[in-house]
Amino acid sequence: MAVARKQADRDHLRDVSALGCVVCRNLGYMGKHDAVPAEIHHITTGVGMSQKATDYQTIPLCAARHRTGGWGVAVHAGEKEWEGRYGAQTALLAQVERELIEYRESIVGRSA
Ligand SMILES: [Zn+2]
Repeated sequence: MAVARKQADRDHLRDVSALGCVVCRNLGYMGKHDAVPAEIHHITTGVGMSQKATDYQTIPLCAARHRTGGWGVAVHAGEKEWEGRYGAQTALLAQVERELIEYRESIVGRSA
């Protein structure tokens, strides 16, 4: 990424990634507190035609669900099929936004 990010944006992306892959969690592949390492996916729907999502329109996905899983498994290879299997990206974003609130509250509680 050529553009330098503000600290607040970097913190946001770090927290999104710390949640672990949202699809794997929804499929029940792991408990709430052992997340699958996730990459940042900028969602490709619900952001307007030919517009790129901002860093606040991102969801955490493991490498397979993001890039390497092949057609319908990786979101970048067959987006419609992917959404049919795992849910709309906009719905997953809404879920991630709720989870971020819980995640940040749990961090504040721990460090106090
Ligand atoms: Zn995953």
